[in-house]
Amino acid sequence: MLQLDRVDVCYGSFKALTQVSMTVGAGELVVLLGANGAGKTTLFNTISGLLKPTAGSITLEGKRIDGLKPSGLVAAGVVHCPEGRKLFPQMSVSQNLALGAYLHRRDGEGNKRNLKEVLDLFPILHDKRNQPAGSLSGGQQQMVAIGRALMSRPRLLMLDEPSLGLAPLVVNQMFEVISRINKSGTSVLLAEQNAFAALKIAHRAYVIEGGSLVMEGDQQAMLGNEAVRKAYIGA
Ligand code: ATP
Repeated sequence: MLQLDRVDVCYGSFKALTQVSMTVGAGELVVLLGANGAGKTTLFNTISGLLKPTAGSITLEGKRIDGLKPSGLVAAGVVHCPEGRKLFPQMSVSQNLALGAYLHRRDGEGNKRNLKEVLDLFPILHDKRNQPAGSLSGGQQQMVAIGRALMSRPRLLMLDEPSLGLAPLVVNQMFEVISRINKSGTSVLLAEQNAFAALKIAHRAYVIEGGSLVMEGDQQAMLGNEAVRKAYIGA
C-alpha cells in the first residue's frame, strides 16, 4: 500500500536519507531497526508530510503522497504516532483522544464507536479519562498517544519508538496491543530499538544505517541473521 522509491531527504546541506526504497503492504507489520541518529524519525516525518523529499517519490496505493500536507496524509489514512508521545499534558485524556478525531468531528456516532474500540484496547484509560494526560504514568501516556492516533482511523499507523522509557512489563503489553491493532487490519510501520520484541510481532523488517537501508528480510530471516542479532538484539 505504501511505497517509497529512492527517497532522499536533506537538512540544509546534510543528507539525512539517501535513496530509501521500501514498501509496507496492506495488513503488514513492518519494523524499522536502526541506532540513534540512523534516520528513523526523519523517514517517519517524511512519510507523514512534515519533511519533503529532495528526490524520489512516495505513493499510497499508487497515488503520489509526497508533497501533501500532514492533514492531507491523515485524511488519506496515514497516521504518525511520534516519538516522545507529544501529548497535551494539561488537557484530559478524553480531550487528547478527541483531538485525534478532529478530521471526523462531524461523525459523532463513528467517533463513539471508535472511542469504545480504543477503550477496549486500553481499559485503564476509561478510569483515567478526566485526568490531565500529563499526570499519567509513561506507559499510560503511550496508550493515550496510540489511542489518539487510532481515533484518526489510520489505514497505515506509524509508531516511532513506542516502548521508549517504559518498564519491561509495560513494554510487553504495548507490543501485544500493537500486534492486536495490526491483526484487526491496520498496516503498521514500527520504529523500535527494542528489536527482539518488535521482530517477534513483525512480518518484515528493514535496517537503516547512516540514512540508507542496508538490510531487509522477513521475520524469520531477520531473527536468524547474525549481524542483526549482534547489532540490535545482543545475542
Ligand atoms: P533517534 O532514535 O535518536 O531519534 P533517528 O534514527 O530517528 O534517531 P533522526 O532523528 O532521523 O534519527 O536523525 C538522522 C540524522 O539527521 C542524524 O544525524 C541527526 O543528527 C540529523 N538530524 C535530525 N534532525 C535534524 C534537523 N532538524 N536538522 C539537522 N539535522 C538533523
